[in-house]
Parts: sequence; structure tokens; C-alpha cells
Amino acid sequence: MQNDTDFPIAILGAGFAGIGAAIQLKKAGIESFTIFERASEIGGTWRDNTYPGAACDVPSHVYSLSFEQNPNWSQRYAASGEIQAYLLDVVDKWKLRDRLRLNTEIVEARFDENAGIWRLTTDGGDTFTARVVLAGVGGLVDPAYPNIAGMDDFEGEVMHTARWNHEVVLRDKRVSVIGTGASAVQVVPTIASVVALLTVFQRTPAWVVAKLDAFYPAWVKRLLARFPFFLKASRFVKYWVSELRGPIVFYNSKLLSAIGVSLSKWNLRRQVKDPDLRKRLTPDFQFGCKRVLVSDDYWASFERDDVELVTDSIERIEAKGVRTDDGRLHEADVIVLATGFKLGLATAPFPIIGRNGQTLDEAWASGAVAYKGMTVSGFPNWFIMMGPNTGPGHTSVLVYTEAQIAHAIQAIQKLQSEGLKLMDIRRDVQDRYNAGIQKRMTRMVWGGCNSWYLNADGSNHSLYPGFAAEYVLRARKLNPNDYECVGY
Ligand code: NAP
Repeated sequence: MQNDTDFPIAILGAGFAGIGAAIQLKKAGIESFTIFERASEIGGTWRDNTYPGAACDVPSHVYSLSFEQNPNWSQRYAASGEIQAYLLDVVDKWKLRDRLRLNTEIVEARFDENAGIWRLTTDGGDTFTARVVLAGVGGLVDPAYPNIAGMDDFEGEVMHTARWNHEVVLRDKRVSVIGTGASAVQVVPTIASVVALLTVFQRTPAWVVAKLDAFYPAWVKRLLARFPFFLKASRFVKYWVSELRGPIVFYNSKLLSAIGVSLSKWNLRRQVKDPDLRKRLTPDFQFGCKRVLVSDDYWASFERDDVELVTDSIERIEAKGVRTDDGRLHEADVIVLATGFKLGLATAPFPIIGRNGQTLDEAWASGAVAYKGMTVSGFPNWFIMMGPNTGPGHTSVLVYTEAQIAHAIQAIQKLQSEGLKLMDIRRDVQDRYNAGIQKRMTRMVWGGCNSWYLNADGSNHSLYPGFAAEYVLRARKLNPNDYECVGY
């Protein structure tokens, strides 16, 4: 049995995954961890996405840590600031501040097989060693800036939703929003009544279903705080509602798709009266193929006289605004890029060098693969949270993350208790698992259209093809036989 000080653990990233892992390590009596975070504060997505209207699109009773449930969510879908405040509270409650190394970006990780340790190098040139790395650096982190000609010519302000500049005043300005995905459906209705003119550039319309958001009255919050059973019951019900709706958004089925389409069309009809406008807002691809969005007021924004939907292609950005290919110049003072993120899973987040000098990028040359999304053969003692093929299109990603944390902690306990040098997922086990995942992909709906879910070759290495509950059952229990276990 090795003691804690001989067993440094590095957690990369202080978002939900990293913070959740730190708490579970503490609960397991393992204290020898450090959390490395490249930003100056914790929070990940909820630190970075502060655009007007930014909120969770999964109910907060499910989109929160199961071991840190919060009776005080103000509404079903909490706003970004409230989620960030929750994470800050959790960090204080678990006294994680002194475990954090903020402003510290890991720029290289190299496995020393003789010693069974990972050597981590920071952007400041410091090095750290870790017996185990828990990598929770997120999949949708770095903004994707569109490659539109003339962007530098624009005389006004340009900002990405994930890097909102709160010093830019939008009141009474002409604002152009490029993109109509999950971020746009939140920002558009929130700023529509503030700005003088809102022009929304839609390349592809999205299926949007009703959010049915509501504030929790004070008595409900008191009840949930007083009787944790009700809080757990609320989480349980919301989890199973989203889970049982899952097949509508993930199976490639005409019948299920028709159900989704009718729900979305009902949402469109109740918000938009003009049949021509409805037509322009209606997607022509199968329901679920791209991420299904939730909103009660996005589509209604286009009924306003001061909001215009533009479906002509953008030709270029000019000094005064956005020129579309019909020759029209859409004048603007501010351009908002709601154009999404670079999928972090396409490559390793930084050079990660495993056994025999192989890099993770080499291992992922034909797409990111990992055993249950967590471990990659040749990269021992490295556990990914929110890794390949673990994203949900229908429920809270944290359900998956918690299973990954549980799996990693069992591996840490085994390494420690048996004095092992390394645990490396067996290549045959990893290959068999991923062959099964890709086989199941053929029954899923995601192959039928272009989205960030897919790699350039059309393969899907981002989403899990099935129910969250099934993933959790498969992933949360470590089977030591799946791993090559090597002692000193
Ligand atoms: P997104 O879903 O990838 O949407 C990007 C939008 O920008 C799309 O409409 C895309 O059009 C458009 N676009 C990209 N490049 C363009 C270009 N050059 N010209 C014109 N249009 C362009 O990005 P997102 O809305 O930021 O959401 C990304 C993901 O973040 C979501 O799927 C979700 O997982 C997560 N998210 C979650 C929440 C939440 O509430 N939990 C909120 C926001 C985001 P095409 O469709 O034609 O490519």
C-alpha cells in the first residue's frame, strides 16, 4: 500500500468534471491531488459563457452534481451566472481553493514508463509529476471563429458568444448575429427587445422544442431544502423524463422523428403566425440529426418588426456590416458570432506522449477513441472525463461524467492498494468496445446531416449511441481484467 504523498494526482481543468472528481477523491479519503486550470477562475463553460440569456438547456436538478444537489435553483433551467455561483459555493464548501493552480496551463504530458509517472509541463516552464491524471478539459471550450472574408474590415465591435465583452453597449444598436445554434437561441430573444435592429443570419435552421421553463416559488425551494427526499425525487423524475425522450433524438426512426417534428412544429406554430416565416425557420433534415434546441421565445423573436431573419448566404464582412450574396449590405454596429466551438476531441488538447513515445494525436489519427470514453491504450494511468463517444444529445452530460469519476477512483484505489506501477487499457478490449460503438452508430440519426457531432470523414466520435443509464452501468464499475496491470 502506497501512502498518499507517494501518489500525486493531477486533475486537469476546474469545470464540472474536475471539481466533481476532486470532491469524490476527497470523499474516498484521497487528498493528494492538485487541480490545474489555465484560466484565472474555476467554472469552465459557466465561467466562459456569460452572453445575455446564457443558461443551461438541461433541467438544473439533473444538470448539477448528484452528490451536491442544490434545493435553491431559482428556475428549472438555471442561468449561467447561477450555475457558476453554485460551482464557486461547492469549491468553498469542499475547501478546494488551496488545491487549485489557476493560470496554469499544461502544455505537455509525457509518460515515464520506468517510473510509472506522468511528467507535466506548464506554460510557465514548471514541471510536475503525477501518478494518475484525470483530464477534464472539456470538449466545447475554444470558440470557433468563422472564416468569413473581410472580418478585419468591420468598423464596429465583433464578439463571440463564448467571449462576451460586457463593455459593449447593445442598447439601441444595430446588431447582427451569425449562427442559429444552441447559443443563438438564447442570445437572440434576450437582446431582441434591447437593440434597435437585430439581424440574424441563418445558414441552417434548427429544430427547436418547447423549454417550458418556470421559476421555483419560495415554498418549493424551502420544501426541497427541508426534505432532501423531494430534491432527489425531482432529480429522479427529470432524469427519467429526459432519458425516456432520448430515443426521439437519437434513433434513426421515421416514427420517432415524426414525433419530434410534430413537437417542434407545435412550438413553431405557437410562436410564429406568418406561414412564410415558419417555412424559412423549418429544417429540412431529420429531427435529432443536429442537436435539438430548446426555447420558448427564440422563434417568437422573428415576429418583431425590429428583428430580421436573413437566409441568404454571407458573402463578406465590410466596414459597415454584413454583405449577403444577393448583394444586400446589412448594416450593423456590433456583430455577434454565435458560431460554436472547435470540437476539443478532434485532437489531443496538447502534446500527450504515452508509452513508446506515441502521441495521443497519433493514436487518434483516425478519430478519437477510448475505452468507454475514458482510457486509451498506450496512455496508462490517464483517465479522460467527457471523452470520446460520451456526449449525450438528450440529457445531462454530468451523469456520464460521474460514472467516469467513479471508474477512475476505483483504478486509483487499485494502483495504490496493490502498489501497481501502471494500468493500461488492453488494446483488444478498447478495439472491441469501439467496434461495438461504431456498429451501433449505424442505427443512430446523426449521420444524416452536417454538424459538430461528426468528424470530417462523417464518423461520430463525440456522442454515446444509447441511453445514459446504459452507459453508466457499463462504465462506472472498473473491471481489472480489462486493463494490463504492471507492478514495479
Ligand atoms: P453550434 O450549435 O455549433 O451552432 C453554430 C451556429 O453557427 C450554427 O447555426 C452554424 O450553422 C453557424 N455557423 C458556423 N459557422 C458559420 C459561418 N461561417 N457562416 C454562417 N453560419 C455559421 O454552436 P453553439 O450554439 O455555440 O452550441 C454548441 C454546443 O454548445 C451545443 O450543441 C451545446 O452542446 C453547447 N451549448 C449548450 C448550451 C446549454 O444551454 N447547455 C448553450 C449553448 C451551447 P450550420 O448549422 O449551418 O453549421
